[in-house]
Amino acid sequence: MSKKISLSQFTHTWRELRFKRLAEERFDVLVIGGGITGAAVALDASCAGLSCALIEQNDFASGTSSRSSRLIHGGLRYLKQGQVGLVYRSAREQQRLALLAPHLVRPLNLLFPLYQKSFTSRLAHRGGMIAYSALQPFDSKLRHQRSGAKDLLSLEPQLPANGLQDGFICREYLTHDARLVLETTLAACNAGACAVNYARVMDLLFLRGRVVGAVVNDEMTGRSFEVRARVVVNAAGPWADRLINRAAQAKRRLRLSKGVHIIIPREILPLSHAVIFFSRRDERALVAIPAENFVMVGPTETEYEGAPECAAPEREDVDYLLEALRDFFSQLKIENEDVIAARAGVRPLYDKGVRAAGEVSRAYHIEWQRDRLLSVLGGKLTLHRRAAAVTTRLLTRELKINPGVARLNATKNPLPGANWKNFSEEETKALLMRLSIEEESADHLIRAYGSRSLLFADMLTEERELARRITPSLPHIAAEVPFSIRYEMAVRPQDFFERRSDLALCLKAEGETWPHELMKFWHEPREKFFRAAQTEEVLA
Ligand SMILES: Cc1cc2nc3c(=O)[nH]c(=O)nc-3n(C[C@H](O)[C@H](O)[C@H](O)COP(=O)(O)OP(=O)(O)OC[C@H]3O[C@@H](n4cnc5c(N)ncnc54)[C@H](O)[C@@H]3O)c2cc1C
Repeated sequence: MSKKISLSQFTHTWRELRFKRLAEERFDVLVIGGGITGAAVALDASCAGLSCALIEQNDFASGTSSRSSRLIHGGLRYLKQGQVGLVYRSAREQQRLALLAPHLVRPLNLLFPLYQKSFTSRLAHRGGMIAYSALQPFDSKLRHQRSGAKDLLSLEPQLPANGLQDGFICREYLTHDARLVLETTLAACNAGACAVNYARVMDLLFLRGRVVGAVVNDEMTGRSFEVRARVVVNAAGPWADRLINRAAQAKRRLRLSKGVHIIIPREILPLSHAVIFFSRRDERALVAIPAENFVMVGPTETEYEGAPECAAPEREDVDYLLEALRDFFSQLKIENEDVIAARAGVRPLYDKGVRAAGEVSRAYHIEWQRDRLLSVLGGKLTLHRRAAAVTTRLLTRELKINPGVARLNATKNPLPGANWKNFSEEETKALLMRLSIEEESADHLIRAYGSRSLLFADMLTEERELARRITPSLPHIAAEVPFSIRYEMAVRPQDFFERRSDLALCLKAEGETWPHELMKFWHEPREKFFRAAQTEEVLA
């Protein structure tokens, strides 16, 4: 190849080196929690010149950040609750994220059909949409749009025609939440952060009343060690109260709310567009979002009192969503067995009051708990960059560090998979196809990994055989498994099947199980897959 490929330093072999660095270095900031909030704080703070450690107890994004509806949206629902500022800020974040990671934050036409109900209800929805549109940035290319019944039906033939009056096409964005977390973490590492998964903070360290670090357990080996830092950031999502309680006898800061999605094969629910519809039982707005060969339907919203790690979809959650789906798409026959998966996530909401969970603000709340312990509470996926910027401002002020102009440039950098400086998308696709990858698979790699799909060329030069499809009906190729281990710190098979990709769901939708022969990648001697690791360069 004529052009030089620069590789990410984010590999599994470096795990040992990272643990060594964690134990030896004194960091400016220790971030606890590898969800979207922690990843974004690590990135922003590293860009401001702070040395950062990021510790995640399970896999990156294994908490709420892989269980969202994946919408990067203003949130029409929040407008109804009067959260105008939140919707306004979210609309600006949509554009920013789509620029920084176009392969991960893609435009989505979300259809909002209005049916012949009471005149006042239709009027209220119309009024809401007018206000929602008014909050879009002036220079937004994708504006929400009113649409007639005929146009809506031609866009989405599965919409029930009976009683359809008109509606709207909401111009939102769809992401892959877990991959967004991963690429944000990668970017943080490229900016100098030291991130590890499967490392649990067991306790905080104190010196003269000040938080000075944490005791960390390597969950893969059982070894414990201390990580020292000048400031600790609590980005533990729904687990944040546990850390706060270790530092201070504080009252509960979070309201937890459980949200469930069900997954239906696209063959059964053949949608080509995402659709908003309402549960007849309680008028709650739900979305059905097609992705690859399945459709996500949800989310529910119920108060949750238990431990976040125990949150699971209950029979009644699934029944509620199925009932709403069958009521709306009554022409389709959707059976109980068509639900191939259900997943529950816990929203970490910050609230002092007694409102119902659905009405609690989704804004971030950032507060000092104790000397040198800063908690980032609440929030939503869409606003992670903003929360991180505010957090960094508080950190640099506390540590008396001037972030200077370096920060401004660095935070405007695209995420690692949006770096098309050396190779264009067309060049990358052509190169992948020259290495025996079928066109559909090359398109899939570029869609999922963006410019980082170029790294597959390197792997396939070593082992052509990895270009084969994992299963004939899906575009995923075998090389994605060792790729996730080598470049994306997948430690366990589910890290790849459930978070680095949607393969677990895609296979289920095809009625297939995880191919046995792929498991070998987790058992073969590590050196075989990591021989490139020693010669890698940091992604520019
Ligand atoms: C059903 C549902 C749908 C949603 N849909 C959307 C949407 O469409 N758009 C949107 O913008 N937002 C959405 N949200 C909200 C969004 O998903 C969350 O606000 C966001 O993911 C929270 O991220 P977080 O990093 O704060 O928490 P998490 O992702 O939970 O991350 C916290 C991490 O901290 C780790 N941790 C905890 N304790 C420790 C410890 N002791 N040591 C080390 N690590 C620890 C956990 O393992 C976890 O990975 C949705 C939420 C839900 C539940």
